[in-house]
Amino acid sequence: MTKNISFIFLILFIQNSVFSQQKPQKQNVNFALAIHGGAGTILKKNMTPELEKEYTDKLNEALQKGYDTLSKGGSSLDAVIVSIKILEDSPLFNAGKGSVFTADGKNEMDASIMDGKTLMAGSVAGVRKIKNPITAARCVMEKSQHVMMVGNGAEQFAVQCKCDFADSAYFFDQKRWNQFQKIKEKELNKPVLDTTGSIKPSEVFFKDEKFGTVGLVALDKYGNLAAGTSTGGMTNKKYGRVGDSPIIGAGTYANNKTCAVSCTGHGEFFIRSVVAYDVSALMEYKGLSLADAANEVIMKKLVSLGAEGGLIAIDAKGNITMPFNSAGMYRGYMKSDGKKEILIYR
Ligand code: ASP
Repeated sequence: MTKNISFIFLILFIQNSVFSQQKPQKQNVNFALAIHGGAGTILKKNMTPELEKEYTDKLNEALQKGYDTLSKGGSSLDAVIVSIKILEDSPLFNAGKGSVFTADGKNEMDASIMDGKTLMAGSVAGVRKIKNPITAARCVMEKSQHVMMVGNGAEQFAVQCKCDFADSAYFFDQKRWNQFQKIKEKELNKPVLDTTGSIKPSEVFFKDEKFGTVGLVALDKYGNLAAGTSTGGMTNKKYGRVGDSPIIGAGTYANNKTCAVSCTGHGEFFIRSVVAYDVSALMEYKGLSLADAANEVIMKKLVSLGAEGGLIAIDAKGNITMPFNSAGMYRGYMKSDGKKEILIYR
């Protein structure tokens, strides 16, 4: 008798596991994604029509590739990687190839990724030779027991992950170098550590320079959210400075229960305000809509602190919001219903 019962249980168990493997994942038709290429003092008067076209074309290419990934049934994480790699490979944006220079004339990049389904996350900071830091961040998430790796250690791990590497000549961009020289000159006239307190750090770092951190948030056909961010940081950054972009909860966050967020702006403020997680927390604990939560953080909290920047965010229904409090933000979105927009200015 007991033997018979055990046999029945065994059959039921086998059936159940075979069926659960065959069960197709439920598909959500409302897939969507949003992209940013950085916020800052991006003014139409400083832009030529040709340059504007270069930016919109590149954002469009990255957005379209991410969209194609999602429409073919790829995951939101795959879309994050595909799109961000395209922007990292372009000198137009401050990430990967187009990374800005540190105070000692080097390029140090940060990147992070988060999976809203599992709440797993990975990030790298202060890496100098990884061609696409976002791929290394994903590898940290998927192939290590850790969340964040920095500098040489992150690069050593990226070798194991078979990430592509590039030398400093690849990351050198004359325009970025000229920007850096201009900032250096300004710094000579206005030291950062002004003891009179008359200069806010945001002025030295941020005012009339354009930024171009890149980020992507996506909702896939299976209802899973993901977010990723990649950056060269801020021009003239010093002493191994790390910004918000590789910090989970500050520059990047994703949770299927709420939203996926990627930020851009003056990192020190974004870290202190835990911006990306704050948006999610306002939704989770206060029941705010995506747009209201993001607005609260970018337009109220950060503005009251004097911090410039913005974010892109998407919720589990595919709603998208892209608030920023700076002059401009390279941004765009695409939805499965065919809606698409690419914007630069306010
Ligand atoms: N948030 C980046 C950082 O502070 C910079 C940016 O978004 O432009 O490193």
